[in-house]
Amino acid sequence: MSKCWHLVPRSSSRAASAKDIVRFIPKKPREGINVSDVHPLAEASTLILGLTAIFVAVALLLIFIIEVALYFVPATTEAELFADWMPEDLIAVSPGDNRLHQTQLLVDRLASHWAKAPYKFRVEVDDSEMANAMALPGGLIIVTQGLLDEVESENELAFVLGHELGHFRNRDHLRALGRGIVISLFFTVITGNDVAGLGIKATDITLRGFSRKQESKADEFGLAVVYAEYGHVREASRLFERWDNADSNKRAFISYLSTHPQPGDRVDDLQAIADRDGWPSDGPITPLRWN
Ligand SMILES: [Zn+2]
Repeated sequence: MSKCWHLVPRSSSRAASAKDIVRFIPKKPREGINVSDVHPLAEASTLILGLTAIFVAVALLLIFIIEVALYFVPATTEAELFADWMPEDLIAVSPGDNRLHQTQLLVDRLASHWAKAPYKFRVEVDDSEMANAMALPGGLIIVTQGLLDEVESENELAFVLGHELGHFRNRDHLRALGRGIVISLFFTVITGNDVAGLGIKATDITLRGFSRKQESKADEFGLAVVYAEYGHVREASRLFERWDNADSNKRAFISYLSTHPQPGDRVDDLQAIADRDGWPSDGPITPLRWN
């Protein structure tokens, strides 16, 4: 007889005693066994927070990728891509507006001192009483009616425009574009609009402003352009002197100040640049051509 002890069921090897038998007593599950101990509102907010964090992370990554990629796009390609682009929130004055025409002519004259500029600069005047000026993709310069109301000589306006040209020169204007695109994309998805009609808003792009260093580099370029045009830098910072002395009611209408350095500091910095480079602070003032 072969040994097959390992096949012998354990229970048959010894008699089952009464204490070995565990009786199954059916019990009702405790109340709410399928309900988490965490309050549903807390669970929902954890979920929302998690999704928000994921969304923000993806958005930041997208912004980063777009902004890095844009630095590798040549300015000529950027100019072609955005040749006819207009920000969605622009309320442009009529194309026949005299101040628009004169500002365009002034930009063209100033830009002529920038040899081989890759942009064909386009000026648009926004019908807003808030004084502001901005550089946007493709060589688009927006000035507001509010800004044109503020300037008292062509020399004042020329410096503001020259400064914006400086942002193009350093390609600062691309810095916030990724953010503008991503914000627009987000609202397009939320509102279910057609992505093809992606409306990028100027305010999304320019809200953040530039770094102090970018601003002072743009100021240097702007002042150089003004000197090249007029042979002196008189009145280049006159507008900022007035704004520096403006009261808070007046300042509330100067949105330019929220995206640019303090006007008083700029007056001093511009004077220092003029002194350093030997650019005269005296010379004839050119009146505005629409007065
Ligand atoms: Zn600036």
